[in-house]
Amino acid sequence: MKFLNAYDIAKEQLRNAAKYIDLDQATIDVLSKPKRELQVSFPVKMDNGQVKVFTGYRIQHNDARGPFKGGIRYHPAVDVNEVRALSMWMTWKTSVLNIPYGGAKGGVTCNPKEMSKDELERLTRKYTMMISPVIGPYVDIPAPDVYTDSQTMAWIMDTYSHMVGYQVPAVVTGKPISLGGSLGRSTSTSRGAVVIAKEAAKMTRKSLAGRGIAVQGFGNVGANAAIIAKEYGSKIVAVSDSRGGIYCEKGLDPSDVLKYKEKTGSVVGYPGSKSISNEELLEISCDILIPSALEGQIHKGNAGKVQAKIIVEGANGPTTPEADRILFDRDVLVVPDILANGGGVLVGYFEWVQNISRFYWTEDEVNKRLEKKMHEAFLDVHNIASSKDVDMRTAALILSINRVVEAMKLSGNFP
Ligand code: NAD
Repeated sequence: MKFLNAYDIAKEQLRNAAKYIDLDQATIDVLSKPKRELQVSFPVKMDNGQVKVFTGYRIQHNDARGPFKGGIRYHPAVDVNEVRALSMWMTWKTSVLNIPYGGAKGGVTCNPKEMSKDELERLTRKYTMMISPVIGPYVDIPAPDVYTDSQTMAWIMDTYSHMVGYQVPAVVTGKPISLGGSLGRSTSTSRGAVVIAKEAAKMTRKSLAGRGIAVQGFGNVGANAAIIAKEYGSKIVAVSDSRGGIYCEKGLDPSDVLKYKEKTGSVVGYPGSKSISNEELLEISCDILIPSALEGQIHKGNAGKVQAKIIVEGANGPTTPEADRILFDRDVLVVPDILANGGGVLVGYFEWVQNISRFYWTEDEVNKRLEKKMHEAFLDVHNIASSKDVDMRTAALILSINRVVEAMKLSGNFP
């Protein structure tokens, strides 16, 4: 059996959606391949004096609707096909949210858990230098992703600013507030996902209050989603991280679980909880499942056992196409990543607008604009899903691809 990589999945999703919008083969071919791929190798001096060579990528999928935009991932599994897929999903994500950007993604194949802060700073600055010819505030604007954070963005901004000779806050988003970051950015992906969960719950004539939620991946997205969902009155029944999961039928206090994880390095062993595996978490009895870790977690082997009636994809690419079909047949509402986790890039866009205009908004303004945009995007996608009788992923792709194709056609076939 051929195992699909993330890029194969992204291309299959594109071909599936293309059937509904009569895309010609040439346009499918253009959209199947990133516009530009940069692979870099660079030496970094480690704390023990040894020099290690790392491989990094910046892949720019499409910029028909505006500058390239997308996060940077540090992970041992980063490879060219993963970054290609993530760059294509960014094009659809910025388009489905109707913000004036294209899509890109970057990554370095490394294990940040085994690196010191000094080593990570040296790696980040070298990587920034290597990709500097293709990034810039009006060209391509990186942001955080798995195992990168606001500190990483501060190093990128500082390195880039030194290279051009003046401060360029708009070259990255997700920066610390004191360097031009936006209020509300650190929790924006999660807040957006919870707004989407609320909209999805409404479709089943229920509110979010009292709904049982399971969250896979208790990192930036997952932990904040659990905390915000609890503020909306939901019950967080299970959470997990790379070391395993925990379950509590009566509901967990996610803020306290976070404190425990910060102290011990994992959610596993949280007092009063039952230990479960990551596989068990996905199949646990709950109303809403928010996968917020890595790709391919819900697949042909477990899609039939998912008990949640709503899946809100906090992570990028957590559901395989085969699982999508199984879940659609079982009437499970899957809100796709390009919509569900778009809150991060949305507030990234707000941050960029604030940097460029040198005029900063209150957190309340940011959250209100976020909620309005996410609500509108959910309704746009849901209307297409209902009228065409397709799943939400296909509907989101139909909407976003149509917008990208319109911009490409109006720009013309150049160069
Ligand atoms: P993070 O590094 O902060 O958190 C990832 C979490 O997943 C960690 O707790 C890790 O322990 C856990 N994890 C890793 N492997 C796991 C496994 N096999 N099972 C269960 N848990 C596992 O990363 P993040 O920023 O929260 O990103 C998570 C996902 O959300 C990624 O797919 C990312 O692309 C996507 N995303 C992030 C943002 C953002 O703003 N950070 C925006 C959009 C999408």
